[in-house]
Amino acid sequence: MVAFRPPFTLHQLFVSGFLIGMLALSFSVILFLQQRLSAYFYGDLIENGRTLSLRIAEESRLPIIQAAVEHIESRLETLAAYPNVTGLMIFDSRGKTISAFGSNPVPPRMNTLVGASTTRTHVIERPDSVTIMTPVHERKITSPNRDPHAFGGRVRQPTTPSTSRDAPNIIGFVVLTLTKTPLQADLNQINRHILIVMWTGILSFTAVMLFALSQLTRPIQRLARVMSDPETVARFRRVEVRGVREAQLFAITFNALMARIADSQADLARQVEEAVREMKQQNAELVVARKQAEAASHAKSQFIANVSHEIRTPLHGLLGALSLLEKTPLSDKQNSYLVMIREDADRLLREMNSILDFSQLEARGLPLREQPCPLKKLLERVVKPFEVRAWAKKLRLTLSLDPDLPEWVRTDGEQFEKVIHNLIDNAIKFTAQGQVRIRAWHQQTDEDTCDLHLSVEDTGFGISPELQVKIFEPFTQVDSSTTRRHGGNGLGLAICRQLVELMNGRIMLKSQPGKGSTFYVELPFTLSPPTPECDNEPYAIQDNTHSRLIAPQDEAVSERRLGKSFRPGGRRVLVVDDERQSRLYAQFVLLELNAEVITAANGTEALTACARQRFDLILMDVRMPDMDGLETTCRVRHQRAGLNTRTPIIGLTADVLNLDQQDWKAAGMNACHHKPLESDVLAEIFTQWGIERSIQKFSLSAFLGTYYEH
Ligand code: ADP
Repeated sequence: MVAFRPPFTLHQLFVSGFLIGMLALSFSVILFLQQRLSAYFYGDLIENGRTLSLRIAEESRLPIIQAAVEHIESRLETLAAYPNVTGLMIFDSRGKTISAFGSNPVPPRMNTLVGASTTRTHVIERPDSVTIMTPVHERKITSPNRDPHAFGGRVRQPTTPSTSRDAPNIIGFVVLTLTKTPLQADLNQINRHILIVMWTGILSFTAVMLFALSQLTRPIQRLARVMSDPETVARFRRVEVRGVREAQLFAITFNALMARIADSQADLARQVEEAVREMKQQNAELVVARKQAEAASHAKSQFIANVSHEIRTPLHGLLGALSLLEKTPLSDKQNSYLVMIREDADRLLREMNSILDFSQLEARGLPLREQPCPLKKLLERVVKPFEVRAWAKKLRLTLSLDPDLPEWVRTDGEQFEKVIHNLIDNAIKFTAQGQVRIRAWHQQTDEDTCDLHLSVEDTGFGISPELQVKIFEPFTQVDSSTTRRHGGNGLGLAICRQLVELMNGRIMLKSQPGKGSTFYVELPFTLSPPTPECDNEPYAIQDNTHSRLIAPQDEAVSERRLGKSFRPGGRRVLVVDDERQSRLYAQFVLLELNAEVITAANGTEALTACARQRFDLILMDVRMPDMDGLETTCRVRHQRAGLNTRTPIIGLTADVLNLDQQDWKAAGMNACHHKPLESDVLAEIFTQWGIERSIQKFSLSAFLGTYYEH
């Protein structure tokens, strides 16, 4: 902040104003007095001169008529010796000098004399002298206003012109010259006195003024100094001021103000302290509440995990049994029942998966696993399965891909696929007629990054504006009748939004009720050049309604010869699971792949089996009573027999939330999969771990016999 600095102090302003005023006043007073005094003095001089001149004219009339001026010369000389008279001349009517007296007689010019003849007295004023010309008449002129004896009078006589008709003849002129010099000297003297008196007055007045001023300005200056000192305000200092009453009043007011500010600050400090104390208390309560909420959330997540495990485990067995049943000869009626059961079981699994996804995202987020993904292929393969559903509803399903779309990008393909899958699923679900169009284009943002734009557009029911604002909130659905008609749990879009945001993108909706909806997804991708691994499609596109790959391991497993097997030609696989149904299902799927299956119902049995023989693959349930899958794996890896220290061990779990990658890796597992494990996923695992499959035909009856034997 720039401090404001006034150009003058109050003191300077007062003093300079006062001095200028005084100077102006003294000059104007002197000028005025000088003018008045000189007018007065010179007027007096002229009047006296005129009176004297008239008197001389009067006295010299007869001598002029008689031409005997010399008789009055001594008298004239006396008159000429009057103060200020420097010259006296008498002329005849023709302008001839009759007599001249005085130290400096100034003869006038003839035409001036002629001009003067028309007046009683004619005055010519010069800077240092005055010349008064008075015509001398043949006889006396009387005038009521004039007193020729009033010499020394101060009234200037009016000069009345004479007319040729009544005026007597002019017989001569008296020219009197008066000097102004003594008067000038007197005037100067008076001026000097005036100046001295005035300046004495001014100076003493100024001194008094300055004293009075200092009485006013000094306290104000002190006040200003103290008030502008930051320390004063910071420490609420009081000021002490001596001087005029107003300044003291100022100081008292300032001090009162300071006292009030200090009080209110103390108040404020007390309030802040109280607020802080309250806030701390609230914080403590919040911490407790948060801990309680976290505990509740954890309990909820745990509950969901448990429920998930409890639901998925029988579901696992149910799906396995269904698959077994599908392989047996059935009547058409039985087949249609089977299809119904399969559909419902699949739907149940889908719902379970979405609840689990949501719980996982809510509970602890989801670690993204970015890897090179074939973008176009991925989009095509997500859309493909929907063709049948679209065809069944007589909908046109189109996928328009920008020809420039990058071939390979780095992303978590599984999560990306989940988002698109859900949007297309909804679009088909909520469209009765018309079309569903999926478009993808991109915008290069940098040399190796781009923004992918994806839109899923339908001509369906549309979404009302009220619902649009909360459509991405969990458990939001249009209405219960729609829910009943179309199913769903209102979590799909919430999961989509969470996943898209997790991938630093955004999801938007544009919809018109009755006309359709368009969901836009914008995702930033890093471009990935195809690598040899990419050509092998490291990201395997899976049908996520059935199984999800958690983390594949790239550890190579060496080829080994088959040992003694239940089914000649197959690989030996150990299935460890405490659930009978799960063991049954795994056996079925493995036998389909022509593998030799040994089962163990707990960790101890598994360790015994592993100590006895070498396996090509071990499928290990993670959650088991007594010794869980992680501990069993750890022990297998450290067995003295060492037969299975390098055997691929794949963990299987239905407990999504409580599974940590770190844990199963640390235990020595090579990968972990969610239950139920579908046969195609298992086949993939076989390929991935280099375990060959024999193409021998599988016999269910033989398998069932074995199973029940076991
Ligand atoms: P659900 O699993 O119930 O479908 P979602 O979160 O995917 O949950 O969708 C929530 C609700 O949003 C749906 O129940 C439906 O009412 C509405 N909705 C979603 N997609 C569309 C769409 N394309 N057209 C019309 N309504 C939609």
